[in-house]
Amino acid sequence: MEILLDKIIKKNKIKTKFGTVASYIPGLNKAKKEDLGICLLDMDGNKYMCGNYNKKFTIQSVSKPIALMLAMLDNGVDYVFSKVGTEPTGDAFNSIIRLETATVKKPYNPMINAGAIAVSSMIKGENKEDKFKRLLEFFKLITENNTLTFNEEIYSGENRTGHKNRAMAYFMKDQGIIESSVEDGLDVYFKQCSIEVTAVDLAMIGMFLARNGSLSTGEKIISDYEAKAIKSLMMTCGMYDGSGEFALKVGIPSKSGVGGGIMSVLPNKLGIGIYGPSLDKKGNSIGGDGILEDLSKKLNLSIF
Ligand code: GLN
Repeated sequence: MEILLDKIIKKNKIKTKFGTVASYIPGLNKAKKEDLGICLLDMDGNKYMCGNYNKKFTIQSVSKPIALMLAMLDNGVDYVFSKVGTEPTGDAFNSIIRLETATVKKPYNPMINAGAIAVSSMIKGENKEDKFKRLLEFFKLITENNTLTFNEEIYSGENRTGHKNRAMAYFMKDQGIIESSVEDGLDVYFKQCSIEVTAVDLAMIGMFLARNGSLSTGEKIISDYEAKAIKSLMMTCGMYDGSGEFALKVGIPSKSGVGGGIMSVLPNKLGIGIYGPSLDKKGNSIGGDGILEDLSKKLNLSIF
């Protein structure tokens, strides 16, 4: 397995030249474009790692399914989906357009920024600090990594410059989608996006979902239905407006982030974490995408 991973990483390193590191959030552009790493976990407890699997990066949008899990636990699935839809958009992850034009007045899904901000505003807590503290504890539980923290510089940079996210949040407040404090919701969202992880942490999240919401100890954290909802939304919306092509070429439920992470789940089989900060035009890791395509073809991993 390690030999295969090494080969696939070497092959896809070439692709990283053709992408760009995200720079719209201050600090993200410090990443090294050519970095590429993977961690793969299976149900028997085997762990395979290759490349820059140990490098820390901010989780960004890969945080969206995890925040969704806690919002479901806090509010119930029906309430969450009464405020956020379950349909792909075909638009960019940060698009604002459908918030006003949609016939049903709610963000299309929890994997795009608008939907994710609405979800983060549903996390319960006394104040914004308490809300994020609960969410960070939840991240630690799922990744089984007690050392997780968030990157202050990236958080404050995004808080300072995230005008479009802020605009969408206030629009959703006007529409009654966000019921709690807008600024609390945004603060939780910006902080969760700046949680620092490695490919190993992402593989642990993937494995948690592969086990339908159980920790490695067997402890059940979310219901089968909730786990299935997360995985299906990852499949249909997790790679934004690249989700359809990704389903065709790779066929593995996955979630990407502009920090370069991809978290993938092969139900009942594998958890995969990838790091590769060079992004394609849609904001997905260009090398990570290539790695998953090769891996899926070589090991016949498509769920379809
Ligand atoms: N924090 C980023 C944003 O809101 C997350 C986007 C992403 O990873 N696609 O723009």
